[in-house]
Amino acid sequence: MCGIVGYIGNKKAKPILINGLLRLEYRGYDSAGVATVEKNGITVVKSKGRVAALESVKAIDSLEGTIGIAHTRWATHGKPSDENSHPHTDGKKNFAVVHNGVIENYNELREFLGKNGYSFYSETDTEVIPNLIDYYYQKDSKDDDKKVLRAVISACSDLNGSFALEIISTFLPEKMIVVRKDSPLVIGRANGENYISSDIPAILSYTKDFYLLNDLEYVVLSRDKAEFYDKNLNVIKKDVVNIDWNASAAEKDGYADFMLKEIHEQPKSIRETIGSRLTSDGICSIESLELSKEYLSSLNKIYIVACGTAMHAGLATKPLFEKLCHIQTEVDIASEFRYRDPLIDEKTLVIFISQSGETADTIAALKLSKEKGAKTLAVSNVIGSSITREADYTVYTHAGPEIAVASTKAYTSQVVLMSILAIYFAEVLEINSDLIPDLKKAILKLPSQVEEVLKIDSMIKAFAKKVYTEKDIFFLGRGIDYAAAMESSLKLKEISYIHSDAYAAGELKHGSIALIEKGITVVSIMTDPALTPKTISNLQEVITRGAKTLVVTNQDLGDKVFDNVVKIPETISLISPVLSVVPLQLFAYHISKEKGLDVDKPRNLAKSVTVE
Ligand code: GLU
Repeated sequence: MCGIVGYIGNKKAKPILINGLLRLEYRGYDSAGVATVEKNGITVVKSKGRVAALESVKAIDSLEGTIGIAHTRWATHGKPSDENSHPHTDGKKNFAVVHNGVIENYNELREFLGKNGYSFYSETDTEVIPNLIDYYYQKDSKDDDKKVLRAVISACSDLNGSFALEIISTFLPEKMIVVRKDSPLVIGRANGENYISSDIPAILSYTKDFYLLNDLEYVVLSRDKAEFYDKNLNVIKKDVVNIDWNASAAEKDGYADFMLKEIHEQPKSIRETIGSRLTSDGICSIESLELSKEYLSSLNKIYIVACGTAMHAGLATKPLFEKLCHIQTEVDIASEFRYRDPLIDEKTLVIFISQSGETADTIAALKLSKEKGAKTLAVSNVIGSSITREADYTVYTHAGPEIAVASTKAYTSQVVLMSILAIYFAEVLEINSDLIPDLKKAILKLPSQVEEVLKIDSMIKAFAKKVYTEKDIFFLGRGIDYAAAMESSLKLKEISYIHSDAYAAGELKHGSIALIEKGITVVSIMTDPALTPKTISNLQEVITRGAKTLVVTNQDLGDKVFDNVVKIPETISLISPVLSVVPLQLFAYHISKEKGLDVDKPRNLAKSVTVE
């Protein structure tokens, strides 16, 4: 789950590596380190803590090399400590390696290497890698320019699990080798230099030309070249992909935090998601998606499979698929789905939602669905990400880079895109629904309506100031508002560390109301006129028991007295989460700020969850 950066060129590597690490810190931030090729061999400098701690290590000032690798860690094996930080080397420092992922058979490999005279200084799974490479290097009697590459390929063939690796070696001092399997890695190509990174935004200020790697493509990088090989040393031809993102899209642009910036970007990101997929004259089309009427009519089930916030985007849009397409639609958590032998076959379409496109559980669920004969459709924000290369079809959210760990604009874009997909499917199926023309108009209005919602900020901030010391905050909603409540509750716990849960309002009296006591805070969402009177009753039940309330609604609630009411613009209730979560994203943000927490990098979390 870490961030990886690398550089090979004619400039001093250190500042480029540090700059890249700072941009990738959202992926992991318990330790950081660099290794460069210096005149007298490989020099490693690493430290527990943030990149800032690494910068203050004295030894880093002496790094002059123009080839280097770097890592910011999210520990999976071994506590955050100086020793466990990457880069890792073999005992003789012949090889230095940074690794993102998990080596599942590291115990076995450690034992094997131990028997062959290798010893270990860290608790990590990663440390077996440089040692295993050295083992194969020493064993190889042929001495040619592919010797290091052969050793890397042999070592990687022994590894079970996931890895993105950058490898430098004193035996190949003018080159670097990189490879990935189920963990992200891209190469940025520039004139006389190559940049390596876990994601595109971190190196976008240096180049817009990228090589996107598939699993187990071995890359030998020199300053002016990138050579690609498969495991049998056959040369692979690779094209450069031009990435049309603006580098400043990955900067804070004057906002205090990436999360606040991304919340405010939602009118723009939703506009981008809609793009030309929905026009003002009512034409709905999805590029590169050729699903015939015959195929869609053959389906008896749609599964939406995802994790965390993306799963909530599935819950928010499930009713639309059922209502518009008349196809039973189920939403499942990827880590559950993959292990419970789900009933799917060629009559099932499985839609996978993943912002990063690298979510390990979602990718595994996708592979399983393909094995069972289902067609797979990926909804992702990251071009060329792993999931998009595995799926039969891909549709991009085009929300732009999302840096804050807590997802905001990616969620609203996912809901918008899934809503457009449901309309598109219904039209291909030729199911006439009076709702569709109104829905299309309502979706087109969403960007300007989100702008309206963002203006309510000061009232939400004032409420956050009142409740930021609470231990528990509950969220209530019915129907679509329950889906929005789940996402709002997740946002709050992610960045404020306040315990929070969302309940279907009607379920409250079946148990959870026992938790309600005087002074507790309950947030409720009401956007569906058909359900509002019911939710009001539930809210009154908690007020009677002494709760303070915050209500997000697009309706006039008459003379009902609630402590705080956030009025959002009216829309069709089926797409209302795009509007109702926005004030609650701000609520979570302000509570986190009041508590003095690091909003963009909440504890124990990382942006893309590339491990199980
Ligand atoms: N499994 C490795 C470790 O714990 C790498 C973790 C990461 O991806 O940051 O050191």
